[in-house]
Amino acid sequence: MSNVWQQLSDVMFPQVTATPAELEKQYPPRALKEGARVTRIAPSPTGYLHLGVFFTAMINRLTASATDGLFYFRLEDTDKKREVEGGADDILRGFNTYGLKLDEGFVAPNTVVGDYAPYQQSARVDIYHVYVKSLVEQGLAYPCFCSEEERLQARETQEAQKCRTGYYGPFAKCRALTAEEAIARIQNGDPYVVRLRSPGDESRRIAFDDMIKGKIEMPENDEDIVLLKSDGVPTYHFAHAVDDHLMRTTHVIRGDEWISSVPKHLQLFRVLGFKAPKYAHVSPIMKEDNGGKRKLSKRKDPEAAMHFYAEQGYPADSVLEYLLTIANSDFEDWRRANPDSDRSKFPFNLKKMSVSGALFDMNKLNDVSKNVIAAMDAKTVTAAILAWAKEYDDAFYQKLAADEAFAEGIFAIDRGGAKPRKDMAKWSDAPDYAAYFFDDGFDASWELPENLRPEDAVAVLNAYKTAYDPAADKQAWFDGLKALCPSLGFCPEVKEYKKNPDAYKGHVGDVSTIVRLAITGRRNTPDLCAIMQLLGLERVNGRLDAAIAKLSV
Ligand code: GLU
Repeated sequence: MSNVWQQLSDVMFPQVTATPAELEKQYPPRALKEGARVTRIAPSPTGYLHLGVFFTAMINRLTASATDGLFYFRLEDTDKKREVEGGADDILRGFNTYGLKLDEGFVAPNTVVGDYAPYQQSARVDIYHVYVKSLVEQGLAYPCFCSEEERLQARETQEAQKCRTGYYGPFAKCRALTAEEAIARIQNGDPYVVRLRSPGDESRRIAFDDMIKGKIEMPENDEDIVLLKSDGVPTYHFAHAVDDHLMRTTHVIRGDEWISSVPKHLQLFRVLGFKAPKYAHVSPIMKEDNGGKRKLSKRKDPEAAMHFYAEQGYPADSVLEYLLTIANSDFEDWRRANPDSDRSKFPFNLKKMSVSGALFDMNKLNDVSKNVIAAMDAKTVTAAILAWAKEYDDAFYQKLAADEAFAEGIFAIDRGGAKPRKDMAKWSDAPDYAAYFFDDGFDASWELPENLRPEDAVAVLNAYKTAYDPAADKQAWFDGLKALCPSLGFCPEVKEYKKNPDAYKGHVGDVSTIVRLAITGRRNTPDLCAIMQLLGLERVNGRLDAAIAKLSV
């Protein structure tokens, strides 16, 4: 039966012939096992991957993986004002760099996978129109011709009357238009948006269970919200309902700035005849500032951008591992109990996420990352440092690439074994860490500790030059140092020395400090025996000579 609303819908959408039923068929429920969760991340192409968005994506990924579900990427590119050229690629590259696997939708720049396409809202306008047409046909949506000016005026009236502002109830002027009046205005060429005829009542409340925040109650939505803007492009609210339904999302996990929109969204799902997804709203990542807590800010905090971690050279594993510690506070206990397990085995639980917002702590990230790096083998570390340096530190890259075996030798020292050193938190620590292995990075301005006299150090170095055996292993090397002590007036045993310090110039530790300073310019280094072997006899002798000369002036 052709009614007046149907006539109106035909006038508004003459090109739309498909029906919701056809779309339901085209995008059927997914063939996943019972309980599998379908999640998504749906950023706008702003070219900027915020830590918070990455964190939310990770939570979505974990939620899907924990249930053998699926996690997809949808591009929400209907707001041209926010769009940056190539802005989706940057975001995807960010996900790819940090090993956050996308199963469907855009999975990498220019790479789309999946049967629920298009995964880009700007290419879905025809789909939205099918549903809006259907709503108009049922009298559940209508064209609104109010100009900006009229809306401002209405707002002033509302403020003067001390009423809630917005387009609702008696203030929803175009709600009262008959289909005939609306048709006449459309045929007259008047611009319009399409609004929902909200069935809500402000005095009633809706309750829903947020999987992170718990039970939430809010007044029903009674606003006739905009579904399509005047250019026919949908609003976020409407696109969210249509897309998450047709893409068969089971769990919408998103930033908590959307929580106040949930009444609108639940209403849209109901009006459209869709089953609503479960919602989980992630609190923003916070930072300590002047004794207080505030949201990480794109403007003030470099660490708010995922790019920062790539630039600093944090391994993807470190970032993911750290973010898990702030996602579920029991992750660290699990990690201690399962030091070698794959992260994906951690029983992640949405319900254990912080309601008030997890606190970002750079020192903690560094600690986590030091552990991650300490567990890597030399080949992996060298390859990662080369890749990082190639992009961010060309001079260092040239040095390493000139002799990759030597580079690997540097990063192999004190690696493996029961107690690996934890000197590096990120690849940008490597240039300093490795500096003295290169002649132009060796800092000759070192100074002897105050308890040692230069002439005693010169005597140590002269004796050591003759005694040093490049073939000695770590134990023999240390025994060699000890053997030098008595003739130079140093005590070979620290314990002995402590009993009677006045009888000696120092102990074996002081002797090794003198050699360490001469060879590396530093008091604290990894295994000096290995360092000297890698440097080679010629360089070792050169540095010993230089130290003798420096201390003799
Ligand atoms: N495009 C929305 C945003 O960038 C996505 C929100 C959602 O996940 O539903 O905030």
